[in-house]
Amino acid sequence: MGFEKVLEKIFPGALGEVGFVQKTYSELKPMGFRSENTIVSVCICRDEISQSVRSIIKHVWGEAFNLSSLAGMFFAGKTGIKAAMHHAPITDGKERYVFYGMSHIAIDSEGRIGTCRRTGRQEESVACGALAAFQEEMAGGRLDVSLDIEDVEQSLIKMRLIKKITYGRIPELLELTKITLSAIQEDLENTLKGVVDTEKSDYALITGIQVHGPDGNYVWPSSSYAIVNRERHEIKL
Ligand SMILES: [Zn+2]
Repeated sequence: MGFEKVLEKIFPGALGEVGFVQKTYSELKPMGFRSENTIVSVCICRDEISQSVRSIIKHVWGEAFNLSSLAGMFFAGKTGIKAAMHHAPITDGKERYVFYGMSHIAIDSEGRIGTCRRTGRQEESVACGALAAFQEEMAGGRLDVSLDIEDVEQSLIKMRLIKKITYGRIPELLELTKITLSAIQEDLENTLKGVVDTEKSDYALITGIQVHGPDGNYVWPSSSYAIVNRERHEIKL
C-alpha cells in the first residue's frame, strides 16, 4: 500500500498544510479573529521538517509565537502562554489568541509509518525521532523516567506520556503519536483555562497531527474550537 492509501486509511480527511492553515483562518475570521487583531502561537516538534507549517501560519497570520518542544509537547507552560498573550494587539478593548498544537509522524512513499528521507543523507530517518527513542527505551525494558538535566525535554516527554500508557504495553509509533496529541491537547487546554481571562479575551485552540509525506506535509485535523464571548464554538476542518 503506497503513501496515499495509507494516509487515507489512518488519517482520513488530512489536508495539505497550506489548505489546512487557510481553512483555519477562514473558519476563525467570521468569529472575529484576523491577522491584524490576533496573536498566534505554534506548538510543534523542533524537527526541521515540521517548520513548514509554522512558516505558513506566519505568512497567513503574521508573526507566530513559538511554544514548541521536542515531539510538539507543550512544556512552555503558563509563562510561555502569558508571554504570547501579552504580545496580543488590543482591538476594541479585546485581545485575541489562536494556538496551534500538533504531534507529528512520517509516512514514506511505500506507506511505511515513521519513515522519511532527509536531504543529503542516504539512510532512512524517523519522525518523530523523540517518540521513536522513547518507544525503543520502553521496548528495551528499562525505562528511565528521572529528570536528566542534560536531556530535559526528552525526560519530560517520558514523564508526561508514561501516565497515558497502560503498564507493560508498548504502543506502536502511530498510537504513541495519537497519545502525544492528546497530551498536547490536555496540557494546552488546562493551561489556557487557568490563564486566559475570557471576559476580555477570545481564543481558539486548533490541534492535529502533522504528517510528512514523500511530496510534502499534511495535517490531520483533530479537536479544534474557539471561545468567543465566553461561548465555545466547535471548528470543523
Ligand atoms: Zn519530532
